[in-house]
Amino acid sequence: MTDVPVKSPAPTSDTQSLRAFIISVSLAVAVCISGAFLGIALKGRTLIREEMLHRARTDFRTLVHFRAWNASYGGVYVEKMPGVESNPYLENPDIESTSGKRYTKKNPALMTRELSERLKRFEGYGFHITSLQPLNPANQPDPEEARALRAFEQGTPERSWTETIEGRATTRYMAPLKVEASCLECHAKQGYKVGDIRGGISFTYDTQEIEAKLRSNLRLVAVLAFLTTGLLLSLVIFFFRQLVRKLAEARRQLESFAMTDMLTGLFNRRRVLERFAEECERARRGSSGLTCLMLDVDHFKQVNDQFGHQEGDEVLKKIAQIMRSSLRRYDILGRYGGEEFIGLLPDTDLETALPVAERLRQSIETSVTLRAPDGASRSVTASLGLAQWLPGDTVDSLIHRADEALYRAKAAGRNQVKVLER
Ligand code: GH3
Ligand code: MG
Ligand code: MG
Repeated sequence: MTDVPVKSPAPTSDTQSLRAFIISVSLAVAVCISGAFLGIALKGRTLIREEMLHRARTDFRTLVHFRAWNASYGGVYVEKMPGVESNPYLENPDIESTSGKRYTKKNPALMTRELSERLKRFEGYGFHITSLQPLNPANQPDPEEARALRAFEQGTPERSWTETIEGRATTRYMAPLKVEASCLECHAKQGYKVGDIRGGISFTYDTQEIEAKLRSNLRLVAVLAFLTTGLLLSLVIFFFRQLVRKLAEARRQLESFAMTDMLTGLFNRRRVLERFAEECERARRGSSGLTCLMLDVDHFKQVNDQFGHQEGDEVLKKIAQIMRSSLRRYDILGRYGGEEFIGLLPDTDLETALPVAERLRQSIETSVTLRAPDGASRSVTASLGLAQWLPGDTVDSLIHRADEALYRAKAAGRNQVKVLER
């Protein structure tokens, strides 16, 4: 019997380019997702930095207002209780009321320092008033503050930077203090004029915890990006594999359609001739025997005329089925034309082929019967011609001789097998 061969797909340039396509898509997906997640993480960090800057500006302005309030009164007096210090940089900071109570003057500089110490103690952050030429040597700027102060003199309006202080991450902000008329009372001796930059206030915020949270957030984002990428890639690869499988299946079906006769499921004429050429080539190389069989349904036109074309089709299918089951798996079988079939029996000489063909003829005669509307039954018969491959034969010459044998079977009265020896 002859099965329609199904080729398994070899790795073609198609599958290779599809693989390259999947790899490119995977890389693009990985880059896009990692980029998107990193972007989100970095955006979060930027927002936090902006929020810190906003807070520092607000703190600075608030402090400047406190100082302006103090300066607008030329400093304020507080009762000099035990532990209340007098400002050593002021001339005569202490006064005594008529009732004998003692008061000391808190000018903006001292108020700022005391506020800073209080904030540091209770809130964990502080500010520092400083200048390139401070009256109080304790107000010397640190290197970063000195750099900022020099930048303010060049016109920079503010500076913000991060710094590790005593092993802790900090965000620092500094803005300049400008000389106002009320400041000259204390600072005129330093040669300042109104509008001069006389120093600045720096704010230091401990960002150790928030930095740690940002780092763990970044790690979480990296893990999420990795998992999302993995999941998406698995899906992409899964669907591509499905697609490739379906494409291969569709290709196999197309190839099979291209070589199959749709009515009988046997090889079509084109494919059977290709297979003949291969088998003739084998026979030329000296394999043992090759016999060609031609089969033509007898008076098939009458079958069509009496029973209809559809019934005729059923007869053709039935004959194809009988041929399949009568011949061996590796025999090559095809529909040669309308009601004509061809078979090629490898490793078979005429002597062996003849009884096979005879059995086939008998099977058709006994199994393919038609019943007319008037109740009469009619059996369908076929004539067969056999020819064996001879040295020097081509596909055409071998088929021609088998056809000649078939013609003789027809001429001898049909429903028989004829052999053409040479
Ligand atoms: P002979 O015994 O000499 O072979 O006579 P025949 O009637 O079989 O041969 P002929 O060549 O005169 O007629 C063949 C008929 O087969 C004609 C055509 O309509 C019919 N035929 C060809 N292909 C098909 C098909 O696919 N289905 C059906 N139902 N009929 C077909
Ligand atoms: Mg015919
Ligand atoms: Mg015929």
